[in-house]
Amino acid sequence: MKKWKCTICNYIHEGDAPPERCPICNAPASKFILLEDGTEGKEEKETIRPEREKETEPGKPETALDKLMDTLVRHHAHPVSVHIPNGMLPVTVLIILLAWFFDSTLLSKTAFVNIIFVTLSLPLVLFTGVVEWTKKYNKAMTALFKIKITAAAVTSASCLIVLLWFIADPGVLDSPKSIIFILLNLIMIGAAGLAGFLGGKLVFKD
Ligand code: FE
Repeated sequence: MKKWKCTICNYIHEGDAPPERCPICNAPASKFILLEDGTEGKEEKETIRPEREKETEPGKPETALDKLMDTLVRHHAHPVSVHIPNGMLPVTVLIILLAWFFDSTLLSKTAFVNIIFVTLSLPLVLFTGVVEWTKKYNKAMTALFKIKITAAAVTSASCLIVLLWFIADPGVLDSPKSIIFILLNLIMIGAAGLAGFLGGKLVFKD
């Protein structure tokens, strides 16, 4: 049985021909390379960033930004940093729902503080996400990446709106507009969950 490797996400397919589309990142069959028996480990190093390596001219010095980006990818800066909002957001939205349901000022204030920290973590998460997408996936624009980028944009935008809305109207949960505010929070948690799910699919290949 032949083994084929997706050069975008490194998914391994077994069969006589590569799949029409990568089941993980949706890359077309042309992005698959044939692995010879026993060469998987050797090929790994050669195919992880093929496009970028082709672009780099021999002898051309790496810029400081390149070095920083390589270091961030090597130390998994995106998966690490993304767990700040991914961990805090579900709790924050739950606190907002409880504050709304029980009409609690204390819970409302707690949610406000939480959303400040989530918003502060987003620039780092977005930056490391772009770094990983650039370095590890050669800025691939398959369906998976399009959805993931959209989900990240929706999460970030809704988070910023929730924070600014809280600042402008601290009593929003008591106002008639509270339903819209709650809906915005649910959109935010849905988009964050989708981005996280797709990130997990890329990393774990299942
Ligand atoms: Fe793939």
